[in-house]
Amino acid sequence: MKFTVDDITLVDHNGKARSYLNKSLLEKQNITTGGLDKLKELHTKRYRLVDAMEETDDVNLLKFFDNCITLIDFELQETWGFEKDSKFHRWFELPKCRCPVMDNLDRLGTGYHIINGSCPIHGGNE
Ligand SMILES: [Zn+2]
Repeated sequence: MKFTVDDITLVDHNGKARSYLNKSLLEKQNITTGGLDKLKELHTKRYRLVDAMEETDDVNLLKFFDNCITLIDFELQETWGFEKDSKFHRWFELPKCRCPVMDNLDRLGTGYHIINGSCPIHGGNE
């Protein structure tokens, strides 16, 4: 299947273009039209949650949105044709997260992660 720029453009809930899907990965994974629609829909939902995290400092809400995004990330992996595996989730890039990005990127896929104790989402909230 040939993908156009429109096909791979990810828009948010306001219809604003935010990013693009990886064209070669779409081809490699043999993503169908149905799969493509599902991926775009999941990303739109994810943008809505990420924006909601930007707009609140309520720790319980942040944790709730973080959980919702985790579920979406599992669905994304499945739609891409990958195994559901939380070791590849980029939870440390979410708004208000204070866990170290580079250290966690280095460990992506290993199951090890570095938590900042003062992170409102992943820390101990002391
Ligand atoms: Zn964190």
